[in-house]
Formats: sequence, structure tokens, C-alpha cells
Amino acid sequence: MPQMKSLENTAARVILKDNREKSVKNYHPWIFSGAIKKIEGDFQPGDIVSVFSDKGNFLAKGFINPHSQIFIRILSFIDEPLNESFFRNRITTAAHFRETAISSQSNAYRLVHGDADHLSGLVIDRYDRVMVVQIFSLGMERLRTHIHDWLVELFSPQAIIERSDSPARREESLKSRQEIWEGSLPEKLFIEENGLKYRVDVWAGQKTGFYLDQRDNRARIAELAAGKKLLNCFSYSGGFSVAAAKKGVQTTSVDASSEAIALARENFSLNGIDPSAHRFQVQDVFDYLKGEKELYDIIVLDPPAFIKKRSHLVQGSRAYKEVNRLAMQRLASPGLLLSCSCSSHLDWEQFQKAIFVAARESGRMVQIIGRFSQPQDHPINIFHPEGEYLKSFLLRVV
Ligand code: SAH
Repeated sequence: MPQMKSLENTAARVILKDNREKSVKNYHPWIFSGAIKKIEGDFQPGDIVSVFSDKGNFLAKGFINPHSQIFIRILSFIDEPLNESFFRNRITTAAHFRETAISSQSNAYRLVHGDADHLSGLVIDRYDRVMVVQIFSLGMERLRTHIHDWLVELFSPQAIIERSDSPARREESLKSRQEIWEGSLPEKLFIEENGLKYRVDVWAGQKTGFYLDQRDNRARIAELAAGKKLLNCFSYSGGFSVAAAKKGVQTTSVDASSEAIALARENFSLNGIDPSAHRFQVQDVFDYLKGEKELYDIIVLDPPAFIKKRSHLVQGSRAYKEVNRLAMQRLASPGLLLSCSCSSHLDWEQFQKAIFVAARESGRMVQIIGRFSQPQDHPINIFHPEGEYLKSFLLRVV
């Protein structure tokens, strides 16, 4: 075996303040600046450095970024060499799990989910043979060319594109970037999920092109909606609608984006469903629900994150309450409501409280009949509860 080149800065040592190693001992992947006592040796922001307790015990290795609130993003709690083979193994392990868990359902899945896969600041989505990379940490940014090489070597994709356009990059002093890293994008990219086809626009579409995290809920709704009338609010490219319409359900899809609705129509046709037999509306969902008098048997509410920062908690909770209240008023009795939040700052209890107020204000009796989180390809690291962002209540409204 040839000697593997180290990717670490072995000259720098980060020392924590006395008694500040508790979160590291609990395997939390982030160390905040307040816990740092001193740094010995020279380093560049984004380097991989070792972290020690005040007593000099080794604790972890990770990316250092003094310009970010998250001072250290831990990659390993073991004193092992962090070289190319370390990262390749991490990516391969993550990929192997998805292949086992998801590939029978879909050829599109999240291959790497940041801290949940112990790769802080890296997200990789796979759409058949096209990979979309998102980088959120300075450390991963510094490894860009390596990440490119590892992906080419491990997966020989048709194309790799980078869509590092999340506001989270600003926290790490990084600018947005969108680039083709490798190969060329097919003119039209199609994926298959639970026997249904979707066209995915990885270049101009939302997120990395598709809401992979709603895969299980789309399948659930398709089962529940049979024989019913469905309203899909915040429909994007029609994921929930297509899944239900394929079961013969009459659907209405509402989204503020005309591109999203155009793509939703296309996805109906792609699955042999005549879009003209269904309703599509480019409109603000709040306005649609206020103006609408028709009742539906089942409503899906999958809004964008109303709480993007902790300081938006009160205002955002009110928006969740309001949209749920309006939806409840449009439900037949009994009706079903799948109510989702993808705001990581809103926990289950706070979200349930917003729905409680919505129920009280709309005067409807509401039963919780299901609680669902992210699918398996978006795992939650038990030591990093912040990673649980998607929360969905299935409600029976009487
Ligand atoms: N349920 C979808 C994903 C929804 S993403 C799926 O499974 O694919 C959220 C969507 O809400 C986006 O398509 C965005 O265009 C739309 N949106 C955001 N604010 C809106 C508003 N106020 N009214 C209507 N649509 C809105």
C-alpha cells in the first residue's frame, strides 16, 4: 500500500477550556467558540486539526473555522489518520447504506447527509447517474477538488454539479456557487420513485431538484387518498399529486411558482395521466385557501421553512398556525390533513402547539393519527438532534 497523504494540519492543537468537553464526550459534532481556551501552532481556517481537553487528553479531529459560530466541525472522535482513504470510506459507507435501504424504491436519494454521515457540511444527492453536491462548511470547501475526484472514482457519474446556494454558507463566510464539476447534464433528467417517473431539474429547480425527503409521505398519501379528493398545497413539481392521481384520485395542485406547476403538469403526462383532468393553480396558498369554498377529503400542506433562523420562531409559528387553520376549514368531515414542517428550529412540541391553536380557532376536532420524520436516506444522528428537520403530522379532522 502506498503511503496515504495526510489531509490534516498536525502542527495545530485546539485546547478546550476546563470542563468544556462534555458535548464532545456526548459525540456532538459541533464545538462552539465559547468552549475554546487556546490554539497552539499555526493553522488556516478550514484545516483539519486535533482537539484536546484542558488536561491534554485527545478528544476529536475536525474542521476549524474561527469565522463561524461552529468553531470545530468534528469528523472523527478517534485518533486516526484523516487522509483520502478516511473520506472515501465515509462516502462509501453512506452510499452502501442507501443502496441497501432505498434503491429498491428509487434511483434518487440523498447519498450523504452532512453530520448524520459524519461529513460535516457536505450533502450529496444522487439522481440516477447525476450527482448534486452541496457544500456548507469551509473545511469541505477546501476539499472540493478531492471530493470531485472521490466521486468520479467511486461512482463514475454521468455528471456532477455543485449547487452550493444555501444561505447557510454565509455563516461560514462562503459565497454561493453553482457549477458543473464533471461531465454534462442530460437535456432532460428523469428519476423513478415507487414506480412513478418524475423529471428533475437539478440545475434550475428548487433545492437540488426534487424533495427527496418526502418520498415516504408521497407513498403514504397515495395509499390514503384512494377514492378521495386531494388538495396538494405547496405542490412544487407535483410529487404528492402524481402519486395520488395514479391511484385515480382527483387532484388540485397549488404553488406560487409557475415553473413548478409547469413541471407538475409535465410529470402527470410522463406517468400517462391526462393533466387536463386535474386542477393546477399558480397562486399563494394562503390566498387560495381563503378564497376557496370547495371542501376536500385530504389536504397536504408542505410549505417552505417558515422559520429559517431562531429569531423567526414566533412569526414563523404563527404562519404554520395560520396555514393549518385555513386548511382545516377546507376539509370535509371527516378529512385527513398531512401537515409538514421542514424548519429545524421548530421542534415537535412547538409544531404540535401551532396545530393545536389552528384546531381551536377553526373549531374542528382533530386527532393525531401519525407522526413521521425524514426517510432513511436523511438519517438523524442521535448525538445531533438538530439534524431532525422534517416533521409531519397526519391528522384526522372531524
Ligand atoms: N411538496 C413538494 C415540495 C414543496 S416545497 C414535493 O413533495 O415535491 C415548497 C413549495 O412551496 C415550493 O414549490 C415553492 O414554490 C412553494 N411556495 C413557497 N411559498 C408559497 C406560497 N406562499 N404559496 C404557494 N406556494 C409557495
